[in-house]
Amino acid sequence: MVHFGIDVGGTFTDIVSFDGRKFIHIQTLKTSEFLGNPEIVEKYSDAVFAIAGWVKEGEVIRTPNIPGFDAGLFEGRKVENDANCFAIYAHHITEFSNIFAVTLGTGIGSAIIADSRLYRGNGLASEIGHVFVGGNERCVCGGIGHLETFFSGWAIKRRFGRELNREKLLGLDGFRVLCAEIAKAVVILDPEAVVFGGRISAVLEPEDFELIYSFLPPEFRPEIRIIKDALAVAKGAAILSGGGG
Ligand SMILES: [Zn+2]
Repeated sequence: MVHFGIDVGGTFTDIVSFDGRKFIHIQTLKTSEFLGNPEIVEKYSDAVFAIAGWVKEGEVIRTPNIPGFDAGLFEGRKVENDANCFAIYAHHITEFSNIFAVTLGTGIGSAIIADSRLYRGNGLASEIGHVFVGGNERCVCGGIGHLETFFSGWAIKRRFGRELNREKLLGLDGFRVLCAEIAKAVVILDPEAVVFGGRISAVLEPEDFELIYSFLPPEFRPEIRIIKDALAVAKGAAILSGGGG
């Protein structure tokens, strides 16, 4: 049986199928085009839709990073937070049972795999992009001084008007702030690995994130991995669609 995963991102939407062994990339289209064609949602009615936003009790409740999002389009469909789908894929392709997964793209997402299961808490567990870290810049969620105001794709674009290369990213104060916040999560969760994904992580290298270690007692040394696969979220959604994860 073939299952479908659809990653509805801030800019692009990826459609992937999974038959239990192999993933196939079906299509990538602009999210604006995807949202404007309800028949595509209809066509893949059994898919899991990975949404760059907050999903609680099977409903999309907030999507600050997807312009023109219409939650009504997904009523009765299976929806999941995009970082959760990324974590499911990270678990699928690594040997780790306990993972802290972080997606660095337009926003900052994160998710927890505990004892090989996705941890959802009351629904919104692990929204590290929206912890207060300082300052009073307004976040897309309405809060102030959140981590996303320091290092997310939208914050970098607001500040510099463009995306930055590896060297420039590593020179930002925001990168240090990000690593410090991840270190806090590591102390709480003690994961075997911190696994990164998303467009910004794709231009960085695992050793860049060893800055996280500098904030930690030496007993905490999770492995650091980066999954450089633009379809990772869609693949995780396809695994979920097949009842995996
Ligand atoms: Zn926020």
